[in-house]
Amino acid sequence: MSTVMTRPGRLAAAGQWMQRHGSVIRGIQWVVVAVYALLIIVPAVMPLPDDSAHLWNNLTLAAQFVFWGIWWPFVLLSMVMLGRVWCGVLCPEGALAEFASKHGRGKAIPHWMRWGGWPFVAFGITTIYGQMVSVYQYPKAVLLVLGGSTVAAIVIGLLYGREKRVWCKYLCPVNGVFSLLARLAPFHYKVDEDAWRRSYKNGEHGHRVIPINCAPLVPLRNMKGASDCHMCGRCSGHRDAIALTWRAPSSEVVELGDKHASAWDTALILYGLLGIAIGAFHWTASRWFIDLKMFFATWLVDHDITWPLQTNAPWFLFTHYPEQNDVFSWLDGTMVIGYILATALVYGTALLLLLMGATRMLGRLSSVRLHHLTQALIPLAGAGVFLGLSATTLSLLRAEHVPLWWASDVRIGILAIANLWSAWLLWLVTRRYSQRFVRRGLAMLWFAAALAVVDSAWWLMFWGWASK
Ligand code: SF4
Repeated sequence: MSTVMTRPGRLAAAGQWMQRHGSVIRGIQWVVVAVYALLIIVPAVMPLPDDSAHLWNNLTLAAQFVFWGIWWPFVLLSMVMLGRVWCGVLCPEGALAEFASKHGRGKAIPHWMRWGGWPFVAFGITTIYGQMVSVYQYPKAVLLVLGGSTVAAIVIGLLYGREKRVWCKYLCPVNGVFSLLARLAPFHYKVDEDAWRRSYKNGEHGHRVIPINCAPLVPLRNMKGASDCHMCGRCSGHRDAIALTWRAPSSEVVELGDKHASAWDTALILYGLLGIAIGAFHWTASRWFIDLKMFFATWLVDHDITWPLQTNAPWFLFTHYPEQNDVFSWLDGTMVIGYILATALVYGTALLLLLMGATRMLGRLSSVRLHHLTQALIPLAGAGVFLGLSATTLSLLRAEHVPLWWASDVRIGILAIANLWSAWLLWLVTRRYSQRFVRRGLAMLWFAAALAVVDSAWWLMFWGWASK
């Protein structure tokens, strides 16, 4: 009991500290902007590292390790552990977008930008394009993909909103993923509706309420959950009604999933995180990819069609680094795109069918219930992307001869925890729709098959293909 009494107090105080020290947070943001600019610009104008280069004596390798080895996987992890603190406190793109918007034209947000499909489409396009230009390996590709995204964020900031993060809310390629993962965070800024109403009465008695600039445009009074909030702390204490508060990590998915989940969330989980992202990680390890490539190349040569085998595509379309012996032909590039899309279609559709089976066990097929049940896959989807990205971390460490005997056990451990977490979430979600154990148990069986399908992808990548 005593922990329950003391913890919220300390946490709320942390939120209040953030509210009072906004200038410190903005100072930190500019430091991150400077480091980010250094890491994406300098390696792009330096020669590529040779065989004698190491992480500790070559800025290009160090930047590669920082971006793809540490930054990306641990930003994803931080979403689950801390909510979107990264977005509100550290993200250089968010800081630049908001700054640009402060000094920009302040136009109204156009209708096209509010389309709900952007989080899925932007994630898919960026992931596939990143593979086309080998963004994990080459600094010029990093500058193009990350720098391009940053320039777009600034331009959107200059055009739309006043001191707002319009880019982050509508177009950022990882906004959708962050929004899904933050639903698992153990705390959030909670609105006490009674206190909010009371504050109106106090206002009538002359208490002045200072307006809050919520940069990612969260409607404060109706804020439920952590998915859209950037955890900047500015609204902490507002109307004596908003405070950083602990919650059960399952609560947002279980209690709000039916109201908040949408078809685009389902698409992002099944066809994005568990489809396109898996395809992007798979193709470099896949035996099938090599066999298919050989098959098509032989077929083309047999039919005297040689232009797809030429390697004259520019580096910003398909990977082109002859000095590193790393050059995509038109066939290679097309196959990368096709393989990723085919993987997304196969895994996404298989999972969708299994989740429809689970939904059907709880009553008539309903889209709300389907989208709600799909949210239970968020822990495993997030863990998969973390594992896929950390494969880059490990290969960079392997090149430095760091012993990695523990990696396989850690992967199994992460997958086991994520599977159990997803299964537990589904069990709680099913209780919202049926009190009958048999129905809930049958839904669990369908869901267990879905978990096995996802696990098969990671088994193939880390053990199946690796052992051949
Ligand atoms: S609701 Fe808005 S102002 Fe409040 S912490 Fe979240 S992002 Fe900041």
